[in-house]
Amino acid sequence: MTESKPAPLTQITSDERLFRDTVRRFAAEQIAPLVRQMDESQHLESGIIRQLFELGLMGIEIPEEYDGAAGTFFEAILAVEELSAVDPSVGVLVDVQNTLCINALVRWATEEQKKKYLPKLASDTIGAYALSEASSGSDAFALQTRAAQKDNGYVLNGQKLWITNAKEAGLYIVFATIDPSAGYRGITAFLVEKDTPGFTLGKKEDKLGIRASSTCELVFRDCFVPIPQILGEPGKGYKIAIETLNEGRIGIGAQMLGLAQGAWNHAARWAKERKQFGKPIVDFQAMQFQLAEMAIDIEAARLLVYNAARLKDGKLDFLKEAAMCKYFASQVAERVASLAVEVYGGSGFVKDYPVEKLYRDAKIGKIYEGTSFMQLATIAKLTLGTK
Ligand SMILES: Cc1cc2nc3c(=O)[nH]c(=O)nc-3n(C[C@H](O)[C@H](O)[C@H](O)COP(=O)(O)OP(=O)(O)OC[C@H]3O[C@@H](n4cnc5c(N)ncnc54)[C@H](O)[C@@H]3O)c2cc1C
Repeated sequence: MTESKPAPLTQITSDERLFRDTVRRFAAEQIAPLVRQMDESQHLESGIIRQLFELGLMGIEIPEEYDGAAGTFFEAILAVEELSAVDPSVGVLVDVQNTLCINALVRWATEEQKKKYLPKLASDTIGAYALSEASSGSDAFALQTRAAQKDNGYVLNGQKLWITNAKEAGLYIVFATIDPSAGYRGITAFLVEKDTPGFTLGKKEDKLGIRASSTCELVFRDCFVPIPQILGEPGKGYKIAIETLNEGRIGIGAQMLGLAQGAWNHAARWAKERKQFGKPIVDFQAMQFQLAEMAIDIEAARLLVYNAARLKDGKLDFLKEAAMCKYFASQVAERVASLAVEVYGGSGFVKDYPVEKLYRDAKIGKIYEGTSFMQLATIAKLTLGTK
């Protein structure tokens, strides 16, 4: 059998290009005019969310039989990249929906759960993914939210912290322990609907960046969740958490890649328009070299992100590549956004221009879905065989 030649990593199919261009146009025409307002009001416009559903971007990988777009993980990555080039807050909304929530349901939900939730997630319901707590972040499996068995279900008590999409969500994947003495083997994933008695939203965080994306505490006080709402098996939630986060990490890589590309686009445009010493600042070689170095960084991040996504779609090992792409793309985003502020000079430091926000937004890439140190720990383990 002859093996087909591997394609260049940046090559995308005509369907993927059409999809990417549609998302790019939507972001430029519909999201861009609202970015500053949404950042300042710390609120995602409901009209934008509605259009994301209408475009199929909130159910990219949901199979057609559940009313989804039946797309690929790579398409989800392209969507997150393109949206984040304009607004990383919109990027993370779509990222959590697709790479964490839908991904977990497609893989682990029962047929009844799929029929109940996937069509909703494809049409009007936002998902949130609740693992972190005040005392368990990097050490996620030290979580303390308790699920005590009662009658035909479990009673949840505890608090989750830092939950993206919490304010807008209708469905929450909540990790709790059914047996604290069992360590990670007690962790169980529950599907909790918004209006479940005993479940309320707590404090909404006032953040440095991605301010339009809601990040809230979730509070569970004697919240009864029936057994059919368990996702996967009792005690197997750790597996769901590890495996979805491994994939989600590629999404954060894409968010940071898009952010870096967006910052570069603004910086390049500004450098061509802004005149000093009688000519556009882009005519100075120092400026050209700086923009060229940024472009190299972005290209390298894109290769890592696309390769990790293609490996995932090809059902090949991608763990190391996912950690590397998230680590590297978040570094690139911070560096490129910072340089973009400098290219703008004083104008880069004020809110009238877009790069100040992208600089603030970039910081989160090194923190959520595993901090940079946790990515390095994974990469060290996989390359050195350390524990
Ligand atoms: C805006 C935002 C949105 C978020 N969204 C979600 C969400 O939707 N769902 C969710 O479940 N969580 C979410 N999180 C939580 C996020 O995943 C955690 O903040 C992150 O995992 C880090 O945990 P921590 O904040 O407790 O920091 P810590 O774990 O306390 O880390 C503090 C520092 O110690 C370092 N550190 C810790 N352990 C080690 C170690 N073993 N070796 C070396 N260094 C170490 C870290 O790298 C970091 O620099 C979100 C957070 C933010 C800020």
